[in-house]
Amino acid sequence: MTGTAFTVCGVGYRVGGARILDDVTLDIAYGRVLALVGPNGAGKSTLLGILTGDVAPSAGEVLLDGRPLRNWSTRELARTRAVLLQANHVAFSFSAGDVIEMGRAPWIGTERADADEQLIADATARADVAHLTGRDYPSLSGGEKARVSLARVLAQDTRIVMLDEPTAALDLRHQEEVLRIARDLAARGRAVVVVLHDLSLAAAYADDVAMVDAGCLVALGAPADVLTEERIGAVYGTPVRVIADLDTGRPVVLPRRSA
Ligand code: ADP
Ligand code: MG
Repeated sequence: MTGTAFTVCGVGYRVGGARILDDVTLDIAYGRVLALVGPNGAGKSTLLGILTGDVAPSAGEVLLDGRPLRNWSTRELARTRAVLLQANHVAFSFSAGDVIEMGRAPWIGTERADADEQLIADATARADVAHLTGRDYPSLSGGEKARVSLARVLAQDTRIVMLDEPTAALDLRHQEEVLRIARDLAARGRAVVVVLHDLSLAAAYADDVAMVDAGCLVALGAPADVLTEERIGAVYGTPVRVIADLDTGRPVVLPRRSA
């Protein structure tokens, strides 16, 4: 898998009179991790929803593998992209193991179902949730739910993986682990789109950073080019200092505080 997964061209989204997204244009490539950043309410989840095909844009077009997204069937999409939503609601009382198994549903009746057991085991280990599979999903902590849902996404074994704030509820080690998983997926040719609030985490692990502000894509490029003090200060409305990580040289974003 090389080349372009998504071509997003002039995409806009309006609800009533409100402009949620305006004229967003970008390509999303296989084999790379794209971090989607921006303040609360900027339009990140809406853009992700447009990429998943769950939200129809009110302007512009999205191509997936060169074909208009609106022409893809639900089943084709389920075999092509896996999505971790911001809120992991499960309506019924499933076990965590059941939730992970749901990731294999799109492959029922196909040759790839032969790999179900192995993929579920791998995903469970990778997301560090083996000790949780027997638990009632609703009884899990927010972070545990997020990791079980990540295992479900990994078990789906798709060439595109989209994660909306996967680290929001996670402790330090698991935050790092999720981004290492994202990197591994990209190394295996998958396209990974991940919404993050932690700009240092985005800078450390993403190939590309897309910054969204008030529905507009205000910057797209390498972390060091996008995550400048000036831009972050302006977009987030709070002063920051950007330093280079001592080990990696990647940007680290620190809020500026008065002494
Ligand atoms: P983000 O994920 O960047 O925090 P969202 O994409 O969830 O932001 O939302 C962007 C903005 O659009 C927010 O102000 C949100 O309240 C608004 N919004 C999203 N969906 C709808 C909708 N269906 N109706 C009205 N407003 C919406
Ligand atoms: Mg969101």
